Amino acid sequence: MPDQEESNHGESVLRVAVPLPLRQSYDYLPPADANLTGFRPGCRIPGCRIRVPFGRRKLVGFVLETADRSRIGRDQLKPATALIDSRPLFNPELFELLHWSADYYHHPIGEVLAAAMPALLRQGKPLHEEVTFWSATAGPESLSGRARRQRQLLEFIAESERVTRAELIDAGFSPTLLRQLLDKGLVRERTQPAPTPSAFTPLQPGSRERPEPNEEQIAAIAKFRAAGGGFRSALVNGVTGSGKTEVYMRLMEDELAAGRQCLVLVPEIGLTPQTIDRFRQRFALPLAVFHSGLNDSERLQAWRQAHDGSAAILIGTRSAIFTPMARPGLIVVDEEHDTSFKQQEGFRYSARDLAVMRARKENIGVVLGSATPSLESFQNAEAGRFLRLELPHRAGGSAPARLRTLDIANEHIPGGLSELALTKIAQHLEAGNQTLVFINRRGFAPILHCPLCGWMAQCENCSAYMTVHAQPPCQRCHHCDSTQPVPNLCPVCRQNELSTSGFGTQQLEAFLQREFPATPVLRIDRDSTRGKGKFRKLLAEVDQGEPAILIGTQMLAKGHHFPGITLAVIVNADGGLFSPDFRGQEQMAQVIVQVAGRAGRGSGRPGEVLVQTRHGDHRTLGKIINSTWSEFARHILDERRAAGMPPFSHLCLIRAEAADRDAALSFLRRARRGIEAFGHEKQVHFTGPMPAPMEKRQSRYRMHLLLRCANRPALHTVLGVLVARLDELSAPGDLRWHIDVDPIDLL
Ligand code: ADP
Ligand code: ZN
Ligand code: ZN
Repeated sequence: MPDQEESNHGESVLRVAVPLPLRQSYDYLPPADANLTGFRPGCRIPGCRIRVPFGRRKLVGFVLETADRSRIGRDQLKPATALIDSRPLFNPELFELLHWSADYYHHPIGEVLAAAMPALLRQGKPLHEEVTFWSATAGPESLSGRARRQRQLLEFIAESERVTRAELIDAGFSPTLLRQLLDKGLVRERTQPAPTPSAFTPLQPGSRERPEPNEEQIAAIAKFRAAGGGFRSALVNGVTGSGKTEVYMRLMEDELAAGRQCLVLVPEIGLTPQTIDRFRQRFALPLAVFHSGLNDSERLQAWRQAHDGSAAILIGTRSAIFTPMARPGLIVVDEEHDTSFKQQEGFRYSARDLAVMRARKENIGVVLGSATPSLESFQNAEAGRFLRLELPHRAGGSAPARLRTLDIANEHIPGGLSELALTKIAQHLEAGNQTLVFINRRGFAPILHCPLCGWMAQCENCSAYMTVHAQPPCQRCHHCDSTQPVPNLCPVCRQNELSTSGFGTQQLEAFLQREFPATPVLRIDRDSTRGKGKFRKLLAEVDQGEPAILIGTQMLAKGHHFPGITLAVIVNADGGLFSPDFRGQEQMAQVIVQVAGRAGRGSGRPGEVLVQTRHGDHRTLGKIINSTWSEFARHILDERRAAGMPPFSHLCLIRAEAADRDAALSFLRRARRGIEAFGHEKQVHFTGPMPAPMEKRQSRYRMHLLLRCANRPALHTVLGVLVARLDELSAPGDLRWHIDVDPIDLL
């Protein structure tokens, strides 16, 4: 091949991406000391890390491709400093996925690649640990008699041929002594990568006990298997407690028995310790867990086990979607509706969507599961793009919880809970059961105000009200974390009548403790679980099963199995009904159904769910309470279709923020002006620029420009042009803008 010959003469140019917010790649010559044969095309240099000089800095970049020519003159090209990897970190399919993500999310490839790696690899550490050892190059006679210790060390090294640092220290020799021998050239130092561990031993049948699947599970498993090998995608839509996890595990068994790895994505590991425990108990196989509690070297180690194929099962939160697998078999996304799968900063990707794209590129299976699938995934199943696996009944034989609304429109409820709710709580406690009270507000009360003049406590830095906290007493902004003491007098009218409105977890805790003095009241929110092990400790207390009241936020709605809970009370369902966010109703329905899923999971103790509302006759609320998820989803999908909203169209949000409100606004105005005609041609619909619903946050003004289009390729064509324009527009130095493709957070 002529190409090869050319590069044999050292003609190769390396196209390198650097981890900076720059959309272009940079050309380098191979490092001066490089073995040129290693740079032949076909030798898979692309995907390897490389150290390069960049301005005055040294960066760890990525070779994107090799080429035989550059737009830059050869005499201007700089050589790279050193190639770090001898083989690509990412297999070609995953590397392609990362390229695809950079295009799709319009994010610089260098930053995408950096985000896909653990910190130590970003810093240029070798993937495999290296062992350094020393060997003697001369005999002890070459040292004078005075250097007794040096002589002893040299003898020691000569005896064992090669010595590692640990062996030296064990034998009582100091590193200084070794350095002296090195300086005299009497010993030689060599470094070699540690041997790569072997692939895991495939799953042996009958190694652990497992339940016999029920008929619905059997059908679901069979349907997935019938799709054969290669790429296939499925949505497991199963009610809470229907045994979705059992279905995942059976499908994983197929792969594990064939020696292929499985990647399981879960929303937040800290919140789902039980899930991890179940995989551990079920499979006698090496498991690598990626969670926020890992330090850098533990994280690298887990990554390496996945990369080398020594770990069979990889469990992690959203960023684990980028973990390489030596022998990929299956990807599972549990609780696929959870918004934590969307990265909300920097490189804004959806791990759930990437899971499907990755499975396609790696030609493997992907299973998304939820009791409350996102409307995007639900619609994919409707349209036949996903296999639909349904589990409409609970597995353990327990009956589904009974939901009903509690209309509190005409009731004065000083403690946040209606009379009927309190009576029900008392009944369930007397029967020896536990109760869950759900409220999506931490703190004591969401608003501090003066009833005389109408003043309300607002954050100085954000367009938001201050939340009143009782422990410790203060007012705090949940968006910038600034705190202030609670004033005694109204700062405007100087009267002593300040009061709070609305309820938070702390207020409910105090109220319920007064109402039920003999019952433990456990508050579970971000404040009460701050600190290592606190969450687990609270969960353990609940697990004791004694009658108790749990008060909790979203944290409690996620996948826990509390057999003692028979009653769940949702304090206020109305926020979601009238949310400015078009996903408000979907998200509220997910919360209600998931919270309801916590009740009545112990067999023989049916669950009951009360939903407090001031709009008991609201149609959507009725749908949530009285229908299956599929019926509810179709109802909302009809509305979305009529409004041309996702999943029937695609959104992209451009956000600009600056200390100067007008600067942010005019920046986006100029951007829109430049793209408008082309956008309209492509049927792209523009909204804004306009202030974000939360206009000010942390003292910066936030402006939105929203693009919507029914045709995804058209939207992306327009985005490509828009991004180029945004890159060119001059803006004040403090202005920051970013692009959010398929945004979830529209605040
Ligand atoms: P989901 O993930 O759908 O919420 P789980 O997988 O947690 O449901 O299952 C709920 C409970 O039912 C668990 O205790 C599980 O062990 C049990 N279970 C699941 N499948 C079966 C089965 N086929 N037979 C008996 N128990 C089952
Ligand atoms: Zn006042
Ligand atoms: Zn604030």
